[in-house]
Amino acid sequence: MTGSTPLPERDAADAVASRLADVRRRIADACARVGREPSAVGVVAVTKTHPPEVVRAALAAGLTDLGESRVQEMLAKMKRVPGDGGAGPYWHLVGRLQSNKAKDVVGRAVLVHSVGRRSLADELSKRAGHAGVVQRVLLQVNVGEDPAKGGCTPDRTLELLEHVRDLPNLSVEGLMTIPPMPEPDEDAGEAARPHFRTLRELRDLARDRWPEMAHLSMGMSADFEVAVEEGATIVRLGTVLLGPRGDHPYRPPAGVPVPSREEDR
Ligand SMILES: *Cc1c(COP(=O)(O)O)cnc(C)c1O
Repeated sequence: MTGSTPLPERDAADAVASRLADVRRRIADACARVGREPSAVGVVAVTKTHPPEVVRAALAAGLTDLGESRVQEMLAKMKRVPGDGGAGPYWHLVGRLQSNKAKDVVGRAVLVHSVGRRSLADELSKRAGHAGVVQRVLLQVNVGEDPAKGGCTPDRTLELLEHVRDLPNLSVEGLMTIPPMPEPDEDAGEAARPHFRTLRELRDLARDRWPEMAHLSMGMSADFEVAVEEGATIVRLGTVLLGPRGDHPYRPPAGVPVPSREEDR
């Protein structure tokens, strides 16, 4: 055998690339059903719990935008999968964010999807100001009014939006939601559809006044085709691209320090 043994990471990248091709075809089909352009739908690959090898495989497969739900986990992977100074990777924070972690996120995440309350927005803007950046964010809306989920209620969304728009170091560019879990006998997409529609209606109301309110971050592995039919501009996909997840967040080996901002960039 002369150097033909494929590296495992190459195999993983091939597997992700073929899943990605399938996902892109499904997005294109959903777009065709409603007369949208597939180029208007961005894919964020949600890499939470996966180790850096899987992140590298996702990038090798052509993905550029990565989503994490925990700040420490995002920082640990940023350190191990550094950018190349131009073409990404672009990290998205899609999970719940505590105000005391806002300082670690600003200037590192390209987009924070999960701003659901004023106090968090205030802290992000303050910390972004200290870091000398304008942080792009989405407002998370708890469309199903599910007590287990973060986000503001639909009826408070425009009020929160007006507040966040006035903050000097945030740029608010759309809305995000996670619909309630479907019942076991329900079709996940159809169960989510009314929630996606609610988010879109709210976004349309906001966009009438502020054209930069363009984004709708909605749709996960089980329901992204319906989300695209309902207007998603960003789908957040984990399992369908990267396979099943472990139960625990990725942690770097003991003794590896969490990076400082300078080291990340
Ligand atoms: C985990 C997660 C996803 C991806 O979930 P899949 O069902 O694996 O596609 C998307 N969005 C958020 C906020 C998540 O936490």
